[in-house]
Amino acid sequence: MARSTGRIRSELDFDRDGKQVGFLRLPHSVHRSAYGWIPIPIACIRNGDGPRVLLMAGNHGDEYEGQIALAKLLRQLEPATVRGRLIFLSSANFPAAMAGMRTSPLDDGNLNRLFPGDPDGGPTAQIAWYIEHMLLTQCDYVLDLHSGGSSLMYLPSALSRRHADPARMRHALELLQAFGAPISYITDAPPGDDLALPAAAVRQGVMHLGTELGGGGTLTMAALRIAEDGVRRVLARIGALADQATIPPAPVTRLLQVRGPEYFVYAPDSGLFEPLVELGDEVIAGQTAGIIHFHDTPWREPSMAVFQRSGVVLTKRMPCRTERGDCLFHLGTPYEEGSGP
Ligand SMILES: [Zn+2]
Repeated sequence: MARSTGRIRSELDFDRDGKQVGFLRLPHSVHRSAYGWIPIPIACIRNGDGPRVLLMAGNHGDEYEGQIALAKLLRQLEPATVRGRLIFLSSANFPAAMAGMRTSPLDDGNLNRLFPGDPDGGPTAQIAWYIEHMLLTQCDYVLDLHSGGSSLMYLPSALSRRHADPARMRHALELLQAFGAPISYITDAPPGDDLALPAAAVRQGVMHLGTELGGGGTLTMAALRIAEDGVRRVLARIGALADQATIPPAPVTRLLQVRGPEYFVYAPDSGLFEPLVELGDEVIAGQTAGIIHFHDTPWREPSMAVFQRSGVVLTKRMPCRTERGDCLFHLGTPYEEGSGP
């Protein structure tokens, strides 16, 4: 028989007014703990009716800006300062977050490639299932704060998928402008891409806003500040904060788009990666993006990675040691209205 509520249990009552903190309990019976559970931290601040928002970070455990920004916001906000309900899931793939890894050490699960999840699957698939079927179903908005993680560094960006519905697209652009990251970009979901959170949000009729705030397995003061200010401005914009007067206006954001595979540059060989461009550079089709040096056979001529199209460099690979197929860069180009690639 289908298991309608899954195995994860929340210690919180999301329908109750006030501020609650606690854990999602994910049963995990292992050698050191026969009847144990994984404690995924969760919090809820509710003050009557209003927008219902899921604030998420740690979808990838090695992306830190959002995890810290949401923890700070949770400690700062009290029920009287909120309208509606905020649910904080600040280290969503908790086992990955505790390991400082993109994927879970328990099952290698990449949470953002496992939606809609599986209530009877491994820990990461169960978390995905709970988010899509137990949390998104009771939310109007989801903010999912990512960064480049251990392998990439981004120009601090907020992002939205392209919506076919013009009203939804307009609202997505308003949210990006409210977030006020230096870059905002619209992505086109590749056909068949239904495994990431934005697709889950579409399935559940929830408005999604994402970020790529920085990365490199580290935290910069600038990227954290952009995360903190951006989340507050979006919450104010949608009417989820009681006092909107104290929120400073958003800086102007540069609106771009990221479309097909030609926006991405991958390592053509394995070796040591020498980048030839930096974040924010304007590049042209045919330009050499980077060099892969063969340190096992240093007398060989190195291999060249080339940009297939023109654009602005939005992200760059951080580790020097590189395998064939690793993403080295991706580009953005000025936003154009349209319904898809
Ligand atoms: Zn991520």
